Amino acid sequence: MNLSLQEIINLDELKELMHFFYEAAGIAVGVMDTNHNWLVAIGWQRICTDFHRTNPESRKNCILSEFRIQEYLDSKEYLTYPCPNGLIEVAIPILLDDVPLGFFFLGQFHHHPLDRDYFRRQAIAYGFDIEEYLQTLDAIPVVSEQRISYLMRFFARFFDLLTRIGSESQQRRQAEQETKQAKEQLEIRVEERTHELNRALIEVGDLAAQLNESLLQVEQLAVTDTLTETYNRRKFDESIIQEHHRAKQEKTPFSLIMLDIDHFKKVNDKYGHSVGDLVLKQLSQLIRGLIRQGDLLIRWGGEEFLILLPTTLIEEAGPFAERIRVEVEQEQFVDAGSITISLGVAQLHEGDSTDTLLKRVDNALYQAKHEGRNRVVLCSET
Ligand code: GH3
Ligand code: MG
Ligand code: MG
Repeated sequence: MNLSLQEIINLDELKELMHFFYEAAGIAVGVMDTNHNWLVAIGWQRICTDFHRTNPESRKNCILSEFRIQEYLDSKEYLTYPCPNGLIEVAIPILLDDVPLGFFFLGQFHHHPLDRDYFRRQAIAYGFDIEEYLQTLDAIPVVSEQRISYLMRFFARFFDLLTRIGSESQQRRQAEQETKQAKEQLEIRVEERTHELNRALIEVGDLAAQLNESLLQVEQLAVTDTLTETYNRRKFDESIIQEHHRAKQEKTPFSLIMLDIDHFKKVNDKYGHSVGDLVLKQLSQLIRGLIRQGDLLIRWGGEEFLILLPTTLIEEAGPFAERIRVEVEQEQFVDAGSITISLGVAQLHEGDSTDTLLKRVDNALYQAKHEGRNRVVLCSET
C-alpha cells in the first residue's frame, strides 16, 4: 500500500510538536514531502527568509540544497551538509518500510561561531545591507556536532515510530472500511437473493396451484362421459363402494334408479345418429336439473343411466323416478320431439352386494320394458 506522509501523520499535531521543539531548542525544523512541499517549516532564520530567499542568486542556492539533499538521502543515516549560502543543515529521510515518504530537517545553525568576513563578502556580493545582514547572523544558533547527533538519532526513532503507528492505524481504518463495504455488498446481495427466492417461491406456488387445477381437471375428465358430461362407469365403481359402505356404517338407506330410453334405435334410424347424440345430451341435462346435491347421475352405457340416491328410501326414490319419467315425457327434444324412458328402482338391503343390488334394479327396469315401457317399476323385496 503506497501511503503518503499526510495520510498517516496528523500534520496539525506534528506542527504543534515541532513548534514546542523549536521553542525549547531554538533550532529551525522542517518536514518536506517527496514532492518538495514543505509540510512543516518552523523557526526559519531571518537570514534565510529576509536575505537569502529574497535575492534571486542566493535563493537559487536555497532551492539547490533542498534538491540536493533528496539525491543523497537514501540511508537511515542523517546527512549533514553546508548550504551554499554558508549555513549548516542536517536531514534524515522519513521512511516507511524503507520507502522515503519525506524528509526531516534541522537547519540554519552552525557548529562554530561564524566567520564574519565571509558573510560580509557575501552581503556585498548579493547587495544586502551589510550591517543589518551581520546583525541577523548573531541570531544563528551554534550547536555542537555531538548535540546534533543525539537530536537526529532522537528524530530518526521518533519518525520511525510515528510512521509505523500511523500506517498501522491507516491500514486498520482501510480494513474496517473494506469490511464495512463488503458487509454492505453482502447485505445487498442477500436482499436481492431473498427477493429472487421469494419471486421464485411465488412462481412455484402459482405453478403448484396450476398443476393442482390441471390434476383436478384430469381427474374430473377421467370420471366424466365426454358426450353427456355426466359421470361415467369409473365414477360409479368408486361411488357405489363408498355409498354401500357408508349406508352400512351409518345405517342409512340407499337407493338406485336405472333408466333406459325407449326405442332409441328408432330415434337414430329416423333422425340420424347425431340427433340421437343430442337427445342423450338433453336428457342428461334435464335429469341433472332434477337430482339433489349428493345424488349422482351416471351414464351406464349407450342410452342407459343410473342415478345413485344416498340416504334415500325406495318410498322416496319411487316417486322421484316417476317425476323424472313425467318430465322426460313432457320434454321436447331438439329435432327428435318426444321420447319416453323406462325406469327400475331398488333400495339396498342387508345382505346386498353391489352386484345383487345392480341385478335387482336391472330386473326392475327389464320388467318396466316388459310391461310396455314408459313406466317405473319398484324392485320387490327379493
Ligand atoms: P328398448 O330399450 O326400448 O328396448 O329399445 P332400444 O332401441 O332403445 O334398445 P337397444 O338397446 O336395442 O338399442 C339401443 C340403441 O342406442 C342402439 C344404439 O345404436 C343406440 N346408442 C347407444 N349409444 C349411443 C350413442 O352414444 N349415440 C347414439 N346416437 N346412439 C346410441
Ligand atoms: Mg333403450
Ligand atoms: Mg338399452
